[in-house]
Amino acid sequence: MTTHAPQAGQSVTLPTTLNEAVAALTDMPAAVPVAGGTDLMAAVNAGQLRPAALVGLGRISEIRGWQYQDGNALLGAGLTHARMGRPDFAALIPALAAAARAAGPPHIRNAGTLGGNIATAAPTGDALPVLAALEATLIIAGPGGSRREIPVSHLLAGVEMLRAGELIGFVRVPLLHAPQVFLKATGRTGPGRSVASVALVLDPARRGVRCAVGAIAPMPLRPLEAEQWVARLIDWDNDRALVPEALAAFGEYVAAACIPDPAPEPDGSVPTLPPAVLHLRRTVAALARRALGRALS
Ligand SMILES: Cc1cc2nc3c(=O)[nH]c(=O)nc-3n(C[C@H](O)[C@H](O)[C@H](O)COP(=O)(O)OP(=O)(O)OC[C@H]3O[C@@H](n4cnc5c(N)ncnc54)[C@H](O)[C@@H]3O)c2cc1C
Repeated sequence: MTTHAPQAGQSVTLPTTLNEAVAALTDMPAAVPVAGGTDLMAAVNAGQLRPAALVGLGRISEIRGWQYQDGNALLGAGLTHARMGRPDFAALIPALAAAARAAGPPHIRNAGTLGGNIATAAPTGDALPVLAALEATLIIAGPGGSRREIPVSHLLAGVEMLRAGELIGFVRVPLLHAPQVFLKATGRTGPGRSVASVALVLDPARRGVRCAVGAIAPMPLRPLEAEQWVARLIDWDNDRALVPEALAAFGEYVAAACIPDPAPEPDGSVPTLPPAVLHLRRTVAALARRALGRALS
Protein backbone atom coordinates (compact mmCIF):
# COMPACT_ATOMS: atom_id res chain seq x y z
CA MET A 1 0.00 0.00 0.00
CA THR A 2 1.39 3.44 -0.92
CA THR A 3 0.35 6.89 0.26
CA HIS A 4 0.85 10.20 -1.56
CA ALA A 5 0.13 13.76 -0.45
CA PRO A 6 -0.71 15.67 -3.65
CA GLN A 7 -1.91 18.75 -1.74
CA ALA A 8 -1.24 19.94 1.80
CA GLY A 9 -3.75 18.21 4.08
CA GLN A 10 -4.96 15.73 1.46
CA SER A 11 -3.61 12.21 1.13
CA VAL A 12 -4.22 9.55 -1.49
CA THR A 13 -3.79 5.96 -0.32
CA LEU A 14 -3.41 3.22 -2.92
CA PRO A 15 -4.10 -0.20 -1.35
CA THR A 16 -3.56 -3.39 -3.33
CA THR A 17 -6.14 -5.58 -1.54
CA LEU A 18 -9.76 -5.10 -0.55
CA ASN A 19 -8.92 -5.66 3.13
CA GLU A 20 -6.18 -2.99 2.99
CA ALA A 21 -8.66 -0.57 1.44
CA VAL A 22 -11.21 -1.24 4.19
CA ALA A 23 -8.47 -0.82 6.83
CA ALA A 24 -7.42 2.52 5.30
CA LEU A 25 -11.03 3.75 5.33
CA THR A 26 -11.44 2.59 8.94
CA ASP A 27 -8.23 4.37 9.99
CA MET A 28 -9.26 7.59 8.18
CA PRO A 29 -13.00 8.11 8.70
CA ALA A 30 -12.88 11.31 6.58
CA ALA A 31 -11.41 9.46 3.59
CA VAL A 32 -13.54 8.70 0.53
CA PRO A 33 -13.03 5.68 -1.77
CA VAL A 34 -12.46 6.43 -5.43
CA ALA A 35 -12.54 3.92 -8.29
CA GLY A 36 -12.67 5.40 -11.81
CA GLY A 37 -13.39 8.87 -10.42
CA THR A 38 -15.95 9.72 -13.12
CA ASP A 39 -18.73 10.53 -10.66
CA LEU A 40 -16.53 11.56 -7.74
CA MET A 41 -14.38 14.03 -9.66
CA ALA A 42 -17.50 15.53 -11.27
CA ALA A 43 -18.76 16.24 -7.74
CA VAL A 44 -15.35 17.66 -6.70
CA ASN A 45 -15.16 19.84 -9.81
CA ALA A 46 -18.70 21.11 -9.19
CA GLY A 47 -17.65 22.11 -5.65
CA GLN A 48 -20.12 19.66 -4.06
CA LEU A 49 -17.43 17.54 -2.38
CA ARG A 50 -14.03 18.29 -0.81
CA PRO A 51 -12.68 14.95 0.42
CA ALA A 52 -9.99 15.29 3.08
CA ALA A 53 -8.36 12.08 1.86
CA LEU A 54 -8.87 9.55 -0.91
CA VAL A 55 -8.52 5.77 -0.92
CA GLY A 56 -7.96 4.72 -4.55
CA LEU A 57 -9.33 1.32 -5.53
CA GLY A 58 -7.64 1.12 -8.93
CA ARG A 59 -4.72 -1.12 -7.85
CA ILE A 60 -6.87 -3.84 -6.27
CA SER A 61 -6.59 -6.58 -8.87
CA GLU A 62 -8.94 -9.00 -7.03
CA ILE A 63 -11.96 -6.77 -7.88
CA ARG A 64 -11.09 -6.07 -11.52
CA GLY A 65 -12.20 -9.40 -13.00
CA TRP A 66 -14.85 -12.08 -12.51
CA GLN A 67 -15.07 -15.76 -11.71
CA TYR A 68 -17.67 -18.54 -11.84
CA GLN A 69 -19.23 -19.71 -8.59
CA ASP A 70 -22.03 -22.30 -8.33
CA GLY A 71 -24.00 -21.22 -11.41
CA ASN A 72 -23.34 -17.56 -10.74
CA ALA A 73 -20.81 -15.02 -11.91
CA LEU A 74 -18.93 -13.20 -9.16
CA LEU A 75 -18.14 -9.80 -10.64
CA GLY A 76 -15.47 -7.57 -9.13
CA ALA A 77 -16.70 -4.08 -8.27
CA GLY A 78 -13.69 -2.67 -10.12
CA LEU A 79 -14.80 -4.02 -13.52
CA THR A 80 -14.95 -1.10 -15.93
CA HIS A 81 -17.82 -0.50 -18.34
CA ALA A 82 -15.34 -0.99 -21.21
CA ARG A 83 -14.39 -4.43 -19.89
CA MET A 84 -18.02 -5.47 -19.35
CA GLY A 85 -18.85 -4.37 -22.89
CA ARG A 86 -16.44 -6.87 -24.47
CA PRO A 87 -17.79 -9.97 -26.32
CA ASP A 88 -16.67 -12.58 -23.75
CA PHE A 89 -18.57 -10.73 -21.02
CA ALA A 90 -21.55 -10.15 -23.34
CA ALA A 91 -21.80 -13.91 -23.89
CA LEU A 92 -22.11 -14.31 -20.10
CA ILE A 93 -24.46 -11.49 -19.07
CA PRO A 94 -25.77 -9.85 -22.26
CA ALA A 95 -27.95 -7.20 -20.62
CA LEU A 96 -25.14 -5.93 -18.37
CA ALA A 97 -22.80 -5.78 -21.36
CA ALA A 98 -25.40 -3.78 -23.31
CA ALA A 99 -25.81 -1.37 -20.40
CA ALA A 100 -22.03 -1.00 -20.10
CA ARG A 101 -21.71 -0.23 -23.82
CA ALA A 102 -24.34 2.50 -23.41
CA ALA A 103 -22.78 4.09 -20.29
CA GLY A 104 -21.47 7.37 -21.60
CA PRO A 105 -18.65 8.22 -24.02
CA PRO A 106 -15.54 5.99 -24.38
CA HIS A 107 -13.31 7.81 -21.86
CA ILE A 108 -16.03 7.42 -19.22
CA ARG A 109 -16.52 3.73 -20.05
CA ASN A 110 -12.75 3.15 -19.81
CA ALA A 111 -12.60 4.56 -16.27
CA GLY A 112 -16.09 4.14 -14.75
CA THR A 113 -16.72 0.96 -12.77
CA LEU A 114 -19.58 -1.31 -11.78
CA GLY A 115 -19.03 -0.58 -8.07
CA GLY A 116 -19.02 3.17 -8.66
CA ASN A 117 -22.24 2.95 -10.65
CA ILE A 118 -23.93 1.07 -7.80
CA ALA A 119 -22.54 3.22 -4.98
CA THR A 120 -23.51 6.46 -6.74
CA ALA A 121 -27.01 4.97 -7.18
CA ALA A 122 -28.04 7.73 -9.60
CA PRO A 123 -31.45 7.12 -11.21
CA THR A 124 -29.64 7.22 -14.57
CA GLY A 125 -27.14 4.53 -13.58
CA ASP A 126 -27.48 2.08 -16.48
CA ALA A 127 -26.23 -1.00 -14.62
CA LEU A 128 -28.90 -0.63 -11.95
CA PRO A 129 -32.06 -1.84 -13.75
CA VAL A 130 -30.06 -4.77 -15.12
CA LEU A 131 -28.89 -5.79 -11.64
CA ALA A 132 -32.46 -5.34 -10.35
CA ALA A 133 -33.89 -7.59 -13.10
CA LEU A 134 -31.17 -10.18 -12.46
CA GLU A 135 -31.85 -10.01 -8.70
CA ALA A 136 -28.13 -9.59 -8.07
CA THR A 137 -26.53 -9.74 -4.63
CA LEU A 138 -23.82 -7.40 -3.35
CA ILE A 139 -20.92 -8.74 -1.33
CA ILE A 140 -19.80 -6.03 1.04
CA ALA A 141 -16.30 -5.99 2.50
CA GLY A 142 -16.05 -4.69 6.04
CA PRO A 143 -13.52 -4.21 8.84
CA GLY A 144 -11.50 -7.22 10.02
CA GLY A 145 -11.94 -9.08 6.73
CA SER A 146 -15.70 -9.44 7.28
CA ARG A 147 -18.09 -9.99 4.37
CA ARG A 148 -21.86 -9.56 4.31
CA GLU A 149 -24.37 -9.98 1.50
CA ILE A 150 -27.29 -7.74 0.61
CA PRO A 151 -29.71 -7.83 -2.34
CA VAL A 152 -28.89 -4.96 -4.70
CA SER A 153 -32.52 -3.82 -4.46
CA HIS A 154 -32.12 -3.30 -0.68
CA LEU A 155 -29.17 -0.93 -1.20
CA LEU A 156 -30.92 0.99 -3.99
CA ALA A 157 -34.12 1.31 -1.95
CA GLY A 158 -32.20 2.50 1.12
CA VAL A 159 -33.42 -0.53 3.14
CA GLU A 160 -29.75 -1.27 3.84
CA MET A 161 -26.85 1.17 3.56
CA LEU A 162 -23.09 0.86 3.34
CA ARG A 163 -21.66 1.33 6.82
CA ALA A 164 -18.56 3.37 7.66
CA GLY A 165 -15.44 1.72 6.24
CA GLU A 166 -17.38 -0.74 4.05
CA LEU A 167 -16.84 -1.25 0.34
CA ILE A 168 -18.75 -3.04 -2.38
CA GLY A 169 -16.35 -5.88 -3.18
CA PHE A 170 -18.27 -8.11 -5.58
CA VAL A 171 -21.63 -8.51 -7.28
CA ARG A 172 -23.08 -12.00 -7.59
CA VAL A 173 -25.22 -12.45 -10.69
CA PRO A 174 -27.08 -15.69 -11.56
CA LEU A 175 -26.13 -17.04 -14.99
CA LEU A 176 -29.46 -17.64 -16.74
CA HIS A 177 -28.19 -18.89 -20.15
CA ALA A 178 -31.15 -17.23 -21.90
CA PRO A 179 -31.79 -14.03 -23.86
CA GLN A 180 -31.48 -10.70 -22.02
CA VAL A 181 -32.02 -7.20 -23.35
CA PHE A 182 -31.17 -3.69 -22.14
CA LEU A 183 -32.59 -0.69 -24.00
CA LYS A 184 -32.37 2.96 -23.12
CA ALA A 185 -33.86 6.19 -24.43
CA THR A 186 -31.83 9.39 -24.17
CA GLY A 187 -32.84 12.98 -24.69
CA ARG A 188 -30.49 13.33 -27.65
CA THR A 189 -28.67 11.30 -30.27
CA GLY A 190 -25.29 9.78 -29.38
CA PRO A 191 -24.14 8.83 -25.88
CA GLY A 192 -26.25 10.35 -23.17
CA ARG A 193 -27.87 9.69 -19.82
CA SER A 194 -31.01 7.61 -19.80
CA VAL A 195 -34.38 9.31 -19.81
CA ALA A 196 -35.86 5.84 -19.43
CA SER A 197 -34.37 2.38 -19.67
CA VAL A 198 -35.65 -1.18 -19.57
CA ALA A 199 -33.77 -4.35 -18.65
CA LEU A 200 -35.54 -7.60 -19.42
CA VAL A 201 -34.26 -11.11 -18.73
CA LEU A 202 -35.78 -14.52 -19.41
CA ASP A 203 -35.40 -17.18 -16.75
CA PRO A 204 -36.45 -20.43 -18.48
CA ALA A 205 -35.61 -22.64 -15.49
CA ARG A 206 -38.17 -20.75 -13.39
CA ARG A 207 -40.38 -19.97 -16.41
CA GLY A 208 -40.04 -16.32 -15.52
CA VAL A 209 -39.71 -12.96 -17.20
CA ARG A 210 -38.04 -10.30 -15.09
CA CYS A 211 -38.12 -6.67 -16.05
CA ALA A 212 -36.86 -3.46 -14.43
CA VAL A 213 -37.42 0.10 -15.56
CA GLY A 214 -34.65 2.59 -14.87
CA ALA A 215 -34.22 6.38 -14.77
CA ILE A 216 -37.87 7.35 -14.23
CA ALA A 217 -37.76 7.04 -10.42
CA PRO A 218 -35.03 7.24 -7.76
CA MET A 219 -34.52 3.46 -8.04
CA PRO A 220 -35.33 0.84 -10.70
CA LEU A 221 -38.98 -0.24 -10.71
CA ARG A 222 -40.09 -3.88 -11.07
CA PRO A 223 -43.58 -4.29 -12.65
CA LEU A 224 -44.16 -7.66 -10.97
CA GLU A 225 -47.76 -8.22 -12.10
CA ALA A 226 -46.86 -7.51 -15.74
CA GLU A 227 -43.93 -9.95 -15.46
CA GLN A 228 -46.17 -12.71 -14.10
CA TRP A 229 -48.93 -12.03 -16.64
CA VAL A 230 -46.63 -12.28 -19.65
CA ALA A 231 -44.71 -15.28 -18.30
CA ARG A 232 -48.01 -17.22 -18.30
CA LEU A 233 -48.57 -16.37 -21.99
CA ILE A 234 -45.24 -17.84 -23.09
CA ASP A 235 -45.03 -21.43 -24.31
CA TRP A 236 -41.73 -22.19 -22.54
CA ASP A 237 -41.39 -25.72 -23.99
CA ASN A 238 -41.81 -24.70 -27.63
CA ASP A 239 -41.60 -21.57 -29.72
CA ARG A 240 -41.48 -18.71 -27.23
CA ALA A 241 -42.79 -16.14 -29.73
CA LEU A 242 -45.75 -13.91 -28.81
CA VAL A 243 -48.11 -12.13 -31.21
CA PRO A 244 -47.52 -8.37 -31.64
CA GLU A 245 -50.72 -7.57 -29.70
CA ALA A 246 -49.37 -9.43 -26.65
CA LEU A 247 -46.03 -7.60 -26.87
CA ALA A 248 -47.85 -4.27 -27.09
CA ALA A 249 -50.11 -5.19 -24.16
CA PHE A 250 -47.02 -6.06 -22.08
CA GLY A 251 -45.48 -2.67 -22.91
CA GLU A 252 -48.68 -0.88 -21.83
CA TYR A 253 -48.91 -3.00 -18.65
CA VAL A 254 -45.31 -2.18 -17.67
CA ALA A 255 -45.73 1.54 -18.42
CA ALA A 256 -49.02 1.80 -16.50
CA ALA A 257 -47.50 -0.02 -13.52
CA CYS A 258 -44.53 2.37 -13.42
CA ILE A 259 -46.39 5.57 -14.31
CA PRO A 260 -49.96 5.03 -13.09
CA ASP A 261 -52.99 7.10 -14.06
CA PRO A 262 -53.79 9.91 -11.63
CA ALA A 263 -56.42 9.15 -8.98
CA PRO A 264 -60.00 10.18 -9.89
CA GLU A 265 -61.22 13.57 -8.61
CA PRO A 266 -64.00 13.60 -5.96
CA ASP A 267 -66.51 14.35 -8.75
CA GLY A 268 -65.49 11.12 -10.52
CA SER A 269 -63.59 12.76 -13.39
CA VAL A 270 -60.14 11.34 -14.16
CA PRO A 271 -57.40 13.96 -14.69
CA THR A 272 -55.13 13.42 -17.69
CA LEU A 273 -51.38 13.02 -17.26
CA PRO A 274 -49.29 16.10 -18.18
CA PRO A 275 -47.94 15.82 -21.78
CA ALA A 276 -44.32 15.24 -20.65
CA VAL A 277 -45.38 12.40 -18.34
CA LEU A 278 -47.60 10.91 -21.04
CA HIS A 279 -44.63 11.00 -23.42
CA LEU A 280 -42.42 9.26 -20.84
CA ARG A 281 -45.10 6.60 -20.36
CA ARG A 282 -45.23 5.97 -24.11
CA THR A 283 -41.42 5.73 -24.15
CA VAL A 284 -41.43 3.12 -21.37
CA ALA A 285 -44.19 1.16 -23.16
CA ALA A 286 -42.19 1.16 -26.40
CA LEU A 287 -38.95 0.11 -24.66
CA ALA A 288 -40.67 -2.73 -22.78
CA ARG A 289 -42.47 -3.96 -25.92
CA ARG A 290 -39.26 -3.94 -27.96
CA ALA A 291 -37.20 -5.53 -25.18
CA LEU A 292 -39.64 -8.44 -24.84
CA GLY A 293 -39.89 -8.84 -28.61
CA ARG A 294 -36.10 -9.04 -28.95
CA ALA A 295 -35.75 -11.45 -26.03
CA LEU A 296 -38.35 -13.79 -27.54
CA SER A 297 -37.25 -13.50 -31.18
C1 LIG B 1 -19.80 12.65 -18.95
C2 LIG B 1 -20.38 11.50 -18.14
C3 LIG B 1 -21.31 10.65 -18.73
C4 LIG B 1 -21.83 9.58 -18.02
N1 LIG B 1 -22.76 8.79 -18.63
C5 LIG B 1 -23.26 7.73 -17.95
C6 LIG B 1 -24.22 6.88 -18.57
O1 LIG B 1 -24.63 7.05 -19.72
N2 LIG B 1 -24.70 5.83 -17.83
C7 LIG B 1 -24.28 5.59 -16.55
O2 LIG B 1 -24.73 4.63 -15.94
N3 LIG B 1 -23.39 6.40 -15.94
C8 LIG B 1 -22.87 7.46 -16.61
N4 LIG B 1 -21.98 8.28 -15.98
C9 LIG B 1 -21.70 8.07 -14.56
C10 LIG B 1 -20.45 7.27 -14.20
O3 LIG B 1 -19.55 7.14 -15.25
C11 LIG B 1 -20.82 5.89 -13.67
O4 LIG B 1 -21.73 5.98 -12.60
C12 LIG B 1 -19.59 5.10 -13.23
O5 LIG B 1 -19.94 3.74 -13.23
C13 LIG B 1 -19.05 5.48 -11.86
O6 LIG B 1 -17.96 4.64 -11.56
P1 LIG B 1 -16.57 5.23 -11.03
O7 LIG B 1 -15.68 4.06 -10.88
O8 LIG B 1 -16.08 6.32 -11.93
O9 LIG B 1 -17.03 5.81 -9.64
P2 LIG B 1 -16.25 6.90 -8.75
O10 LIG B 1 -16.49 8.25 -9.34
O11 LIG B 1 -14.86 6.51 -8.49
O12 LIG B 1 -17.09 6.76 -7.42
C14 LIG B 1 -18.45 7.10 -7.37
C15 LIG B 1 -18.97 6.91 -5.93
O13 LIG B 1 -18.94 5.55 -5.61
C16 LIG B 1 -18.10 5.32 -4.48
N5 LIG B 1 -17.45 4.04 -4.76
C17 LIG B 1 -16.74 3.69 -5.87
N6 LIG B 1 -16.40 2.40 -5.82
C18 LIG B 1 -16.91 1.90 -4.66
C19 LIG B 1 -16.90 0.62 -4.05
N7 LIG B 1 -16.30 -0.46 -4.60
N8 LIG B 1 -17.53 0.47 -2.86
C20 LIG B 1 -18.16 1.52 -2.28
N9 LIG B 1 -18.20 2.75 -2.80
C21 LIG B 1 -17.58 2.94 -3.99
C22 LIG B 1 -17.19 6.51 -4.39
O14 LIG B 1 -16.76 6.77 -3.07
C23 LIG B 1 -18.10 7.61 -4.90
O15 LIG B 1 -18.96 8.04 -3.86
C24 LIG B 1 -21.43 9.36 -16.68
C25 LIG B 1 -20.48 10.20 -16.09
C26 LIG B 1 -19.96 11.26 -16.80
C27 LIG B 1 -18.96 12.16 -16.13
